[in-house]
Amino acid sequence: MSEQQHPSKAGFETRAIHAGYEPDPTTGAVIPPIYATSTYKQDGVGGLRGGYEYSRSANPTRTALEGNLAALEEGERAFAFASGLAAEDTLVRALCRPGDHVVIPDDAYGGTFRLFDKVERAWGLEHSPAPVSDVDAVRAAIRPGSTRLVWVETPTNPLLTIGDIEALAAVAHDAGALLVVDNTFASPYLQQPLTLGADVVVHSTTKYCGGHSDVVGGALVVRDLDVAEKVAFHQNAIGAVAGPFDAWLTLRGLKTLALRMDRHCDNAEKVVDFLLDHPRVEEVVYPGLASHPGHEIASRQMRRYGGMVSFRVAGGVDAALSVCERTEVFTLGESLGGVESLIEHPGRMTHASVAGTDLEVPADLIRISVGIETADDLLADLDRALG
Ligand SMILES: *Cc1c(COP(=O)(O)O)cnc(C)c1O
Repeated sequence: MSEQQHPSKAGFETRAIHAGYEPDPTTGAVIPPIYATSTYKQDGVGGLRGGYEYSRSANPTRTALEGNLAALEEGERAFAFASGLAAEDTLVRALCRPGDHVVIPDDAYGGTFRLFDKVERAWGLEHSPAPVSDVDAVRAAIRPGSTRLVWVETPTNPLLTIGDIEALAAVAHDAGALLVVDNTFASPYLQQPLTLGADVVVHSTTKYCGGHSDVVGGALVVRDLDVAEKVAFHQNAIGAVAGPFDAWLTLRGLKTLALRMDRHCDNAEKVVDFLLDHPRVEEVVYPGLASHPGHEIASRQMRRYGGMVSFRVAGGVDAALSVCERTEVFTLGESLGGVESLIEHPGRMTHASVAGTDLEVPADLIRISVGIETADDLLADLDRALG
């Protein structure tokens, strides 16, 4: 099924399963092979078959993944990388120059903050943090004439703050900047930022897109051909590409994204209800709750509210650490978005590097990535761990 015959108007699940790949013309293989090849035979000098010349520049398994991601995010083109951070670095080098400025979330993913603060800054790129939930603060952080990118995540990590993508796109565009949305937490099933005015979507496909905690990868999806050309040039020139096996695993994961996300959301909603009623839980953070400050915006721009939940427990840091250490179905570990439930203590684990700064997270905060196991087993596990 080609995209020409079935343009992006096909339903999300149909695109997830079919877009980006036609059954192999010689064998009929329904699933793209893992093209474990670095080079391609030329039919006479420069006579490339299908444009393939060298696998840093293009590889058919990666092409299939890129076509699929572009269809899911309703973008013009997608590019697959070795990791989310490799995608981010390539994007910055494609669109910024030393002396330029970017606005980043004041609670950016730690690796993203480190990339801007330690790597891109040494290259001469300045950044200003701003809260993604406050459009006026983002506007105020822009330096007219030198801000190239307004970079946001929504929901953010671990406090699940929501940014208004349409409003942020307008603010960025007024200043001649592009809006970049890290869509990792929502996944393309729950939110499609390009349809709301964003210019570039970033994914750590390591998380929900891959979905099985068995591959590290990243992606960029763009809606403008000029941006696509710059990214394509830099993807090849820098070379941090997804290998064919990684691309294949990620594509396999994407086929079931819709099913998985619906179950992640179902289970997260049950976990949220359970936690709200638990006497040892002091606060539950979930954009699906009417009490969440971003609830109304999330309702407008997301299909559902996702599988990530944060909560605070009575008894401070020691109580939070002991809950994290007592679960059995929830695995204590970093990362998120896989089929298995994970639990972590942001203050000591994912967010240890921001301790003592404005970005410090509450010490009694626990973050869970709610998996797709039997919901009752998840509730019983949390009940036991909460004591
Ligand atoms: C994990 C993550 C990244 C970085 O992706 P890697 O694949 O680990 O390089 C970026 N943004 C968010 C929101 C993430 O969760």
